[in-house]
Amino acid sequence: MAGRLNDDFLRRAERSIVGGVNSPVRAFRAVGIPPLFAVRGKGPYIYDADGRRYIDHLMSWGAIILGHAPPAVEAAIVRATRRGTAYGLSTPIEAELAEVIKSAFPSIELLRLVNSGTEAVMSAVRLARGYTGRSKVVKFEGCYHGHSDGLLARAGSGLATFGLPDSAGVLPSFAAETLVARYNDLESVRAICDEQGDKIACILVEPVAGNMGVVPARPDFLAGLRQACDRIGALLIFDEVITGFRVAWGGAQELYGIRADLTTLGKIIGGGLPVGAFGGRREIMERLAPLGDVYQAGTLAGNPVVASAGKAVLELLRKDKPYEALNLAAERLTQAVAASADSAGMPVWIGRVGSMFTVFFTEGPVTDYESARRANPELYADFFRAMLGSNARVERSEGVLLPPSQWEAAFLGTAHLRNDIVETTAAHAAAALEALRPPDGPVPRPSRARGAI
Ligand code: PMP
Repeated sequence: MAGRLNDDFLRRAERSIVGGVNSPVRAFRAVGIPPLFAVRGKGPYIYDADGRRYIDHLMSWGAIILGHAPPAVEAAIVRATRRGTAYGLSTPIEAELAEVIKSAFPSIELLRLVNSGTEAVMSAVRLARGYTGRSKVVKFEGCYHGHSDGLLARAGSGLATFGLPDSAGVLPSFAAETLVARYNDLESVRAICDEQGDKIACILVEPVAGNMGVVPARPDFLAGLRQACDRIGALLIFDEVITGFRVAWGGAQELYGIRADLTTLGKIIGGGLPVGAFGGRREIMERLAPLGDVYQAGTLAGNPVVASAGKAVLELLRKDKPYEALNLAAERLTQAVAASADSAGMPVWIGRVGSMFTVFFTEGPVTDYESARRANPELYADFFRAMLGSNARVERSEGVLLPPSQWEAAFLGTAHLRNDIVETTAAHAAAALEALRPPDGPVPRPSRARGAI
């Protein structure tokens, strides 16, 4: 709930920073309240400027999986920082992080570290074009791959939140190189491949969609994309910026048993610091400069503080293997939310894979962008505010922070596995859903609230 200091920080930020935010969804426009300013986090909790505590299910948009300020990561960052923060030369830690990533992703023989997910995907697409000598990219409606020109065509995430079909400033000639197919619809892919197969450099996909809300890929969908790429000689790029080290140690590729030609990573591999990576088959990656003719570079790429933080996180994940526990906790939470929605007569559809999930305010099924867009963003905004505790009908001192948009993913991390956090979130959700029940009027027909895995 925004209070005095939050409001002061916002007014100050608005004087110098566009819209007061450095990334549009942070403005909370879709949920109708002023944005929160975070000042601190510990474990599963995030604290706003007015000292309110929230159970955090935004988790830096999936970038942190161990919770806030885990001691091992803090220690790694401090140790690295004491030796200097940047050299512009290679450092030993970069290969150490790369080796851990390779050990999790058998499809990655060589990789390169970059500074963001946007950069990773942009570079992977350039490499795919350079390698194949072809120009077109197939992407899917509602998938988001960062904000590079050409990939903003019918993208999810902030564009879905703000209802923008595409961004101004992207030249039509750029966007024309992007062919948009329908998620979970192999027919739409086949039609594009039949028509333009010899011009297609790559098929780019979120193997679990997170940016139209969580929409699991049907297993035959990903296998079909693999076959389509093999048939037309295009590269299959899995954008695992969210799913990498999230849905399984080896990402969606491990979960679904599909090998991508190129993989993009971000978020978790930087331990909460800015990062991205792309990698894949040796013969493709060797086309990158300095070995090959596809140029890509970065002053701060592979930064030693970032790589130290990322390696600390991945080593803990490798040691503790929390994925089954995360999956079970998220299943417990989403089943409880579905049951509460049923008893409050609120039709919801829950999309979930492992520890990423979305409560869609629609009867569903939600299988692609079109069905995701049928969800009711006003109901979601009410739910968001009630969870936060800024709804007059739900009064309490502690809130729950969800993503501030219907079309984004919520997350559970290892810090949520302790101390009944999941049960507390579920109890808050039950109260929030109950508060959404129309005060008068007939009780709506109970839905088949569903949890999909
Ligand atoms: N790909 C996917 C699947 C993403 O979810 C995101 C960001 N949420 C990106 C790429 C872009 O990453 P970044 O914001 O680090 O540029």
